[in-house]
Amino acid sequence: MGPRGILWRLVSESFPTYWRGYGVAVALMVVVAGMTGLTAWIMRDVINELFVDRNREAIQLIAFSIFVIFMVKGIAAYGQMVILRCIGNAIIADVQRRMFDQVLAQRIDFFDSFSLGDLATRLSKNAQSARDALTLMVTRLGGDAMTLVALITVMVIQNPMMSLIALLVAPPAILGVTALLRKVKAVAKKEFISQTRIVSTVQEAALGARVVKAFGLEGHMRDQMGGAIDDVRRRADRLAMIQAAPMPLMEGLAGVMIGSVVLFAGWKVVEGETDPGAFFSFLTALLLAYDPARRLAQLSVLLRTHLVGVELMYQLLDQAPRIKAAPDAKPLALRDGEIRLEGVHFRYAGRTDTDLDAAPSEEAPAKAPPALNDLTLTAPAGKVTAIVGPSGAGKSTLFALIERFYDPDQGRVLIDGHDLAGVTFDSLRGALSHVSQDSFLFDGTVAENIRMGRLDATDDEVRAAAEAANAAGFIAALPKGYDTPLGENGARLSGGQRQRLAIARAMLRRAPILLLDEPTSALDAETEARVAEALGRLMAGRTTLVIAHRLATVRGADKIHVLDAGRVVQSGTHDSLMAEGGLYARLSALQFSGAAAE
Ligand code: ATP
Repeated sequence: MGPRGILWRLVSESFPTYWRGYGVAVALMVVVAGMTGLTAWIMRDVINELFVDRNREAIQLIAFSIFVIFMVKGIAAYGQMVILRCIGNAIIADVQRRMFDQVLAQRIDFFDSFSLGDLATRLSKNAQSARDALTLMVTRLGGDAMTLVALITVMVIQNPMMSLIALLVAPPAILGVTALLRKVKAVAKKEFISQTRIVSTVQEAALGARVVKAFGLEGHMRDQMGGAIDDVRRRADRLAMIQAAPMPLMEGLAGVMIGSVVLFAGWKVVEGETDPGAFFSFLTALLLAYDPARRLAQLSVLLRTHLVGVELMYQLLDQAPRIKAAPDAKPLALRDGEIRLEGVHFRYAGRTDTDLDAAPSEEAPAKAPPALNDLTLTAPAGKVTAIVGPSGAGKSTLFALIERFYDPDQGRVLIDGHDLAGVTFDSLRGALSHVSQDSFLFDGTVAENIRMGRLDATDDEVRAAAEAANAAGFIAALPKGYDTPLGENGARLSGGQRQRLAIARAMLRRAPILLLDEPTSALDAETEARVAEALGRLMAGRTTLVIAHRLATVRGADKIHVLDAGRVVQSGTHDSLMAEGGLYARLSALQFSGAAAE
């Protein structure tokens, strides 16, 4: 879409909502323009009545008229500015809401293509671009253009010939500005990319603070940030130069214009062909016209800069959610929560870097191996099914398909015989709870974090869940108990504590199906025992699918499936699989060796 198309879309989307406010603002601008025209008009009387005719009676009237003109102009200018600012704020709020909804609606791999830095910059900067483009259009076309029309009217009435001379500078001004437009887009886009790098680097420095400090990476991070900051600065400087370029052009042309007018008009006044009042009125109008004319000359250049931001905003808003519920999707009719995967093939789409000229593609790169390859397995209702396999075997992918973060390329994923493709998202998510190795904690209090499991849970239910998760003890020892803030991603908690909060969250959810990714990182024996006990309570009576890393878990599982390269290669109980030998026996020797001492 070209800049005109983008502008048209922006205007047509905003105008229906804000037309009343814009209407009032433009009406006030007409008042300002009229008053500015009057200021120039009245110069004729000032000169002729006061200086030429020395008319005493006129002094007070003219002085009072000037006062009224400026008062009215001031009040109207105030009104239009406040209205436009408020509309601008409403536009930003609206666009940010829409963009965030759009982000939430995306499939999980959307976040592979759009980095946090990119999204944060789009939500803040590009929303502002939408406001700035619209405000600019209204103020420049509504205010400046109208003022210019009023002043040109005064000029033409006072002296048509001189007006013609003055207007001869318009064509070179237009040509000069058009030449600048081409450069704006490229520079503005590059500036945006550098800005996203700044946000990403800050994010990495904050989230990866421990790694940065432990490995002494401060210098490296500083260099990375320094590069991004320098880039933004260089590009912002370049943009400033382009945006300011119409100024010397306009100043030069204005000099030529005013000089020519003085030459021509001065000669006429000296010859007695024009009265001095008309000349001054004309000159005042000409001088007053200069500022709005200069701003109008800059309009297209500034607008083009903002439209780059608006284009990026639409690029995000136009991302179709890549996973959608079927139009006739029904709520999942749960019976007892049996999970079944039938002949599932799945391949990840390759990572698409945020390409500012194109939406991320759906195409999978030809060579990516399938993450799941004709996978068939059943997790019977109310039983514990363990999944083991080497790194990269597809265990997490299997969970992602059950949660319907992705749809299989072939085959079906069923819960109680219902294909997930025909089930509503809300009902599916309500049936599942997932405790992962690194459960994300929000930047809120302990209670708020547990309540993420079920937002309408009462305080008593939150406490009961914490008790059941063996978390109540350590929560009581925190400075403010359940109201203790946890910091970004639970920075103030230990690994075992975070794990138990995640379990409490899952407890509260009361979902019949549990997807459990056991922590691989070693917890000390006592903590591990508490976590294991809490997990035992969580698993009771639920259909549990567990990515197992502990010997106790595989021993306790009703069935174990061994995954390799995206397919099930062995199934059985721990004892039968050990007896069988093969991959399980090898993995068990490696993975469960630490826990084997239990
Ligand atoms: P681990 O035990 O190391 O966590 P896993 O068995 O859970 O491994 P998966 O995470 O399911 O393995 O990965 C299966 C395959 O899919 C791997 O080859 C991996 O590189 C690839 N993969 C996983 N996530 C993505 C992704 N978001 N985009 C592209 N490829 C991915």
